[in-house]
Amino acid sequence: MIVPERRRRRTMPFRYYPTNGHRNDTCVYCHEALTGEQVLYCSDSCRVKYRYYKDKPRTRICEVCGELMNLRVGNPRRKRCSLGTGPDADAGPGDECWELQNEEAARKAREIDARDFPICAYCGAEAEYAGRGRHRKYCSDRCRAAAYRARKRASTSTA
Ligand SMILES: [Zn+2]
Ligand SMILES: [Zn+2]
Ligand SMILES: [Zn+2]
Repeated sequence: MIVPERRRRRTMPFRYYPTNGHRNDTCVYCHEALTGEQVLYCSDSCRVKYRYYKDKPRTRICEVCGELMNLRVGNPRRKRCSLGTGPDADAGPGDECWELQNEEAARKAREIDARDFPICAYCGAEAEYAGRGRHRKYCSDRCRAAAYRARKRASTSTA
């Protein structure tokens, strides 16, 4: 089809065909099939997104495992591999990052556990953390007093 020069110029932004003759038949952003007048994008939202992400980084090094992540899929701002079994996940069960991140989560859970349920230094029972302030060393005032007496006894017997 021969498009008159005047008309082609006027509709240029939406009528752009690459000079090598190749025409996109799918949206360059979402890869949906294009119809009719569409040349690059299936919708305005895809045009906006494509241009927005065009100059943004497409890969990033994962802060946990050091592997390159593909930022074209998933959250483009993520700092670490996304875990999962779907096609847009970076790491699945058995992958290095999966193990590392699960270890980290378990370590954090243990830390929180140790903070919220500290072990009494005298009787060994679980003492509860009030949520703020210094961590309690003893489960009760009785244990605190008993520990104090025990320390005193030890110092007087060695002296
Ligand atoms: Zn699209
Ligand atoms: Zn990773
Ligand atoms: Zn105690």
